[in-house]
Amino acid sequence: MPFQFNIGDHVSPLAGFVEFNASQYSQLKWCRSKLFKMVRENQSCDAYFCSLPNSRTLTHLINDGSIWVNFGPAIETPFYGKAYFAASEIGIADRAFRMGRWTVLATIIHELAHINGAPGRGGDTRAEEAVYHCALGISDEYYGLVDDPRTPYNPEYGD
Ligand SMILES: [Zn+2]
Repeated sequence: MPFQFNIGDHVSPLAGFVEFNASQYSQLKWCRSKLFKMVRENQSCDAYFCSLPNSRTLTHLINDGSIWVNFGPAIETPFYGKAYFAASEIGIADRAFRMGRWTVLATIIHELAHINGAPGRGGDTRAEEAVYHCALGISDEYYGLVDDPRTPYNPEYGD
């Protein structure tokens, strides 16, 4: 079973993680089909995820029905999301939805990298690098030359 979105069918153990509304859910369904297409067509997604501390592929993570993605309306700027590894719970901030579905997609990838063990503190950039390795950024960004606002990859987004 694929990873799941909380549309009122899940009570998160994390305070402040709640269900999505219908318009968010339609963006999320687009993200989910995009993720399944990405792992089929782009080997570098799985290869990068394998290099993270828990060594799970992105294919494995998106097929893990114990991972829940919730709405996290209280997640504060500058964060787009939050992940709790021990509980397999992810929250997505309203800010990501306001930026659009590509940012929601990038946020899900970033948070799944945390579920896979990418550190969430100390300015570690491994979670956000997953977004680049899933082809949502350009190499000039990766090598620190620019931050192209047309891509959802944010090379400055540590933790
Ligand atoms: Zn992070």
